Amino acid sequence: MGCKICGRGSCTESFHSLPEQEQYSKYEAMSDNALISECVDKDNEIAELNTRVCELEKALDKLTDVAAECDSWESFPQGALDEALSVL
Ligand SMILES: [Zn+2]
Repeated sequence: MGCKICGRGSCTESFHSLPEQEQYSKYEAMSDNALISECVDKDNEIAELNTRVCELEKALDKLTDVAAECDSWESFPQGALDEALSVL
């Protein structure tokens, strides 16, 4: 029988991080309905994080575009920095 967390034959639970082991125990103890709710929550959380990653990527792209046009730190426009920081 393989690892109950990942199913691999060459693995055991203790190879996984403590947070992973704790998460597994938490999910294992849940009813099907509680588990489904948890999945929906996680899916929403993932969708929100993906949106956030996209916003941050766009801000970083803009900032690196400005940086590519600049030949010195002194000439770097403050507005571009403020705009990037406003996304954080
Ligand atoms: Zn494993």
